[in-house]
Amino acid sequence: MHMELSHDTAAIVIPAGQGSAFRVRRGDRFRLIDVEGGQVGDLFAFAAADPDEYLSASHTRTSTGRLFPRIGEQFVTNRRRPILTLTADTSPGAHDMLIAACDPARYDALGAPGHASCAGNLRLALSDLAVTTCVVPQPVNVFMDIPVDTDGNLSWLPAPSRPGDAVTFEAVTDCVIVVSACPMDLNPINGERPTSLAVELVEPTT
Ligand SMILES: [Zn+2]
Repeated sequence: MHMELSHDTAAIVIPAGQGSAFRVRRGDRFRLIDVEGGQVGDLFAFAAADPDEYLSASHTRTSTGRLFPRIGEQFVTNRRRPILTLTADTSPGAHDMLIAACDPARYDALGAPGHASCAGNLRLALSDLAVTTCVVPQPVNVFMDIPVDTDGNLSWLPAPSRPGDAVTFEAVTDCVIVVSACPMDLNPINGERPTSLAVELVEPTT
């Protein structure tokens, strides 16, 4: 699904289990909103000038020294350049950068061949903007709660975000953003069922 995001059109609704791509310019701020609560959003960012440069979770962890940036810190690309800044977060603050996007092979292994996936949503959304890339970057899994215990074990917990919780990002460079409302319904990460997300362009304060 592709819709233009501008100050005239204000918001994109991403239906449950689907994805959307949109362009942002340097300095634009956009807000990713969990409409009903408890929903994970897989977020990808590609440099508008070259989609071979994209937000990289591993390079971001190297840059920040954290599992996930703090407010005011930046996500960087596979070329170690800033691409997005985390500027606000009204959610409980659980977000993941460890888990790969769900994809057809993941659902095959779970006994659900043909299931919608975030990797499939990424490819569809990018094709709507005529952007081509072979990679499925590690996403920023907004609202996804994957705690790491002292033995290094991971847990897949339901997203703790509440209805209307939102995370705001500022584009450091012109980029293409893709958001997938994760269709996973075979483990608890999206609560009882996948639901929709929304994206709003934040009006400049000046
Ligand atoms: Zn997913």
